[in-house]
Amino acid sequence: MTNAAYPHLFEPLDLGFTTLKNRIFMASMHVRFELMDRQTERAAAFYAERARGGASLIVTGGCAPNPQGVMDAGAHFLNSPDQLDEHRAIPRAVHAEGGRIVLQILHAGRYAKVDDLVGPSDIPAPINPREVHALTTAEVEQTIEDFVNCAELAKEAGYDGVEIMGSEGYLITTFCAERTNNRTDEWGGSFPNRIRFPIEIVRRTRERLGRDFIILYRISALDLVEGGLTGTETETLAREIEKAGANILTTGIGWHEARIPTIAHMVPRGGWRHAARRIKQAVGIPVAATNRINTPETAEEILRDGDADVVALGRQMLADPHFARKAETGQADAINTCIGCNQACLDFIFADKASSCLVNPFAGRELDIAIRPAKNPGKIAVVGAGPAGMSAALTAAECGHTVTLYDAADELGGQFNLAKRIPGKEDFDETIRYFRNRLPAAGVEVRLNTRVSADEIDEANFDHVIVATGVTPRVLDVEGADGANVITYMDALTDAKPVGKRVAIIGAGGIGFDVAEYLSSPHSSPVSIDSFLDHWGIDRAHETAGGVGEPARPAPERSIVMLQRSDSRPGKTLGLTTGWVVRAELKSRGVRNITGATYTKIDGEGLHIRVGGEDQLIEADTIVVCAGQESENRLFTELHSRNVRATLIGGAEKSAGLDALRAIRQGTETALSL
Ligand code: FAD
Ligand code: SF4
Repeated sequence: MTNAAYPHLFEPLDLGFTTLKNRIFMASMHVRFELMDRQTERAAAFYAERARGGASLIVTGGCAPNPQGVMDAGAHFLNSPDQLDEHRAIPRAVHAEGGRIVLQILHAGRYAKVDDLVGPSDIPAPINPREVHALTTAEVEQTIEDFVNCAELAKEAGYDGVEIMGSEGYLITTFCAERTNNRTDEWGGSFPNRIRFPIEIVRRTRERLGRDFIILYRISALDLVEGGLTGTETETLAREIEKAGANILTTGIGWHEARIPTIAHMVPRGGWRHAARRIKQAVGIPVAATNRINTPETAEEILRDGDADVVALGRQMLADPHFARKAETGQADAINTCIGCNQACLDFIFADKASSCLVNPFAGRELDIAIRPAKNPGKIAVVGAGPAGMSAALTAAECGHTVTLYDAADELGGQFNLAKRIPGKEDFDETIRYFRNRLPAAGVEVRLNTRVSADEIDEANFDHVIVATGVTPRVLDVEGADGANVITYMDALTDAKPVGKRVAIIGAGGIGFDVAEYLSSPHSSPVSIDSFLDHWGIDRAHETAGGVGEPARPAPERSIVMLQRSDSRPGKTLGLTTGWVVRAELKSRGVRNITGATYTKIDGEGLHIRVGGEDQLIEADTIVVCAGQESENRLFTELHSRNVRATLIGGAEKSAGLDALRAIRQGTETALSL
């Protein structure tokens, strides 16, 4: 039966020998379960949950075809039947939920964080300083054999197929691009020689595995690096991979060394769909679009407009494993949307931690935490409806407690109502939407416009009180700080007070950077796909090698100086995988940073500071104070003194800037522990 809301998403996909039930795939993500105990059991539970949630095909995280190809020491490779037991439980668990699963074969090439890394040539990656051994001709043949052997083992383990990873700057991509392949044998030089490596992998895999085995090939739709492939070359590669026997082309955008954001929050939803479209027009097999597809509406639109045949969702499957099921059953409003923050997924990976998700602390922790009926269901008050309070209230209600959630404000969300105003962070509003729909559905009584006191709580006789009252902005103690030209970050972000053309921002933490972004953004919010692509100089005709052209950036309307007391690098607390974009962006808009500053006074001329023993004047019409936050814990202290059973969580417990990750996790875990 056709789904009325999303007809294209829920159309079955016929592959000839088998049919997939819908057009929603879970894209490959390296979640690093190898850093945890019970890896296979964890992976099985993780993927089974996503199969239960309705994804028609799941692609596992990358598994190397040989030890040199692993991403990091300890990561998985599959090259011998001895290792099959590490896998069998995974496809079994997914099949039990009615899903299909393919193993991604990823050879990390020159991105491998191991000592004996290899590539087509000995050119090291700018993001990995290790020496690269250029594969000999015989070793190239052996590596192809390793891919095919890995696919055969995958079939034996019970997987429905494989995805051959040919994007993001890993080994296969580096064979294809002139940038990284200066070989003189039959695997280098001309374009046909350079793309022979992936073609042979796919051709021999199909030859050895037979017709009824799914082969996905992840093609680099846009390399986004100099010396990458042109659009015409990418089309040729796509056609050759189709001829070699792939069933589906999934797409990847940008090498990891590209200096253009490809999935972070500032990329508009569906921002790269044009790249998938070009591949789709070149081939007859289905093509999957990817990157920043986080709502059923965006996904449906991409399929409806003919840009792709399938959507492959990565981080969205961390944020909500039941995305497909909810969209199919008219519960799209209950989807927990990925906000593109990278804070608990990619940033965790780079910090040597297993991935989870900021908005969904259950992701990757399926064996550790779950909603279970409370042993002693009680009457619970949650004070404060920011991320910490909302997650605590929802989880407590889902466990069977009777929950009342209070907030002094007239809307849910706490500081997320400020965060969502930052260009690129509009999706933070989706988190509020999720809780706004889920809280009443789970039975939480929400009382807004209600600033509660210890007396009121005491009188209501709750079994437990969760205090999630957040933070208050730190007040600046400098002469002139009470002047009309001095405003708080809240005033600036809500447009409550006018901001002049020359601005000094006191405090260069996460909020200071967000304020600078807000005040200097040349685009209206949300940034359109066209503005984003122009801004980053994406050559939409893809005539240039790699698809990168000249950025088109309007001149900034404001001159902004960010100041901080400490000598540390400005923005050092920003996310590992997003901070570089924010810093580069502000630099391109002429935003200046001053470190080691002492603020001496503020007057009509601006902000007077002392740096390195020298007095300076920062001429400014407006001074925005982002000088940190203090925990708002007075209610908790008072309840504690009255022996009311209470737990303090989120910013109210520890004020740590951009820390919704901790707030939501703590809210969830506190509620589970009641
Ligand atoms: P809050 O969100 O501060 O919520 C506390 C709530 O308690 C408020 O709604 C308040 O009205 C209510 N309250 C207080 N006292 C009472 C009372 N007595 N009675 C009733 N209600 C009361 N974090 C990230 O992780 N990533 C980001 O990218 C990010 N960007 C941000 C951008 C901006 C501009 C800002 C301001 C913050 C950003 N943050 C970010 C921080 C994030 O919003 C906070 O870490 C998070 O909101 C803390 O959640 P909380 O629930 O503890 O507190
Ligand atoms: Fe999305 Fe952030 Fe969760 Fe990663 S941590 S999946 S980016 S919401």
